[in-house]
Amino acid sequence: MLTNTELNSLVRLRKEIHRTPELAHNEIQTAKRLLEYLKSKSDHVITNIGGNGIAFIFDSGKPGATILFRSELDALPIMETNVFKHASVYKNVSHKCGHDGHMTVLAGLGLILSKEKLNSGKIVLLYQPAEETGEGAELVLNDENFLKLQPDFIFALHNLPGFPLGKIIIKNEHFAAASKGMIIKLEGKTSHAAEPENGISPTNGMIKIIDMIQKLVSTSELKDFALITIIHAKLGERAFGTSPGSAEIMCTLRSFRNDDMEILTNAAVETAKKIAVLEYLKINIKFTEVFPATINDPECTGIVKKACEKLNLEYEMINAPFKWSEDFGHFTDKINGALFGIGAGENTPSLHNPNYDFPDELIETGSKLFYQIVKEITGSNV
Ligand SMILES: [Zn+2]
Ligand SMILES: [Zn+2]
Repeated sequence: MLTNTELNSLVRLRKEIHRTPELAHNEIQTAKRLLEYLKSKSDHVITNIGGNGIAFIFDSGKPGATILFRSELDALPIMETNVFKHASVYKNVSHKCGHDGHMTVLAGLGLILSKEKLNSGKIVLLYQPAEETGEGAELVLNDENFLKLQPDFIFALHNLPGFPLGKIIIKNEHFAAASKGMIIKLEGKTSHAAEPENGISPTNGMIKIIDMIQKLVSTSELKDFALITIIHAKLGERAFGTSPGSAEIMCTLRSFRNDDMEILTNAAVETAKKIAVLEYLKINIKFTEVFPATINDPECTGIVKKACEKLNLEYEMINAPFKWSEDFGHFTDKINGALFGIGAGENTPSLHNPNYDFPDELIETGSKLFYQIVKEITGSNV
């Protein structure tokens, strides 16, 4: 299906992308590299979808389902500590989520599709920008060029360190958690440190909010797992002569269910506002990096399972969703789809760790599995 020459070329592509990573919204060279690699293979290309996104379309010319496979384009603001030849050449930017690998898996599917004739419908390989900031999927979904594609199904995979290499991890319905960043700004009044009574210090308000907000996850209204993690806090300035006049608290809200996220958000806002009033503080609350829960369609997870069985791939149906988030949830909100995991090896460093690297062994398995999914749906070459 993929020759050794093609597999070697895919590994080279993965390493090139790994060497020259680009952050969310800056994936210009990465998209250009993929355009060079896949342009002649596909029937039609759409560039600049939702920013630097790019879609390669393989069209049978016959009616049928439009099946979309999605990969992310962006890297992370992390300094790579690996010293191998394909290590990132940029300071503080590296592919620590394996998106370089996901891009290559999709390119492998492109190579297969350029050789095998489709029976019906269309296949779209979508390279989406800005996944790590939770913005890209929405930008793509709001792009009129994307709307014209009208996909019937959408699939994606994510590599999972900690699971056996190549094992497929499938979950019906809730796959990954919803999450959002909350920024709380408190404004009081600075004063001389010798006369704190002349100012309004946000110290107590900040302590109370940090304490109370973390306790909200035990409220009985929540139906499933939820978590609030304080990720940053700042009080006043580093000046011994000054009693602080401002504070900032940042936390991440997380839940398996979207309705729980709404409950948690309302409770967090209400708690922070109540404390601010009691402490005579002005308050400003903002949310950022909003990820809905990724909810898989059971028909689509069924197709993934069947494809694994046909290829004799080891798979596991898991029961608990993952606590991390993926902006793929924006897609599954609107299109029937499934995100599944592929084990990256039990001893592979965790995602977003400075010494992580995508295992090239997964490229062939990923591309073949995606192609089998195509076959399951279109009936091509079964
Ligand atoms: Zn990531
Ligand atoms: Zn990722």
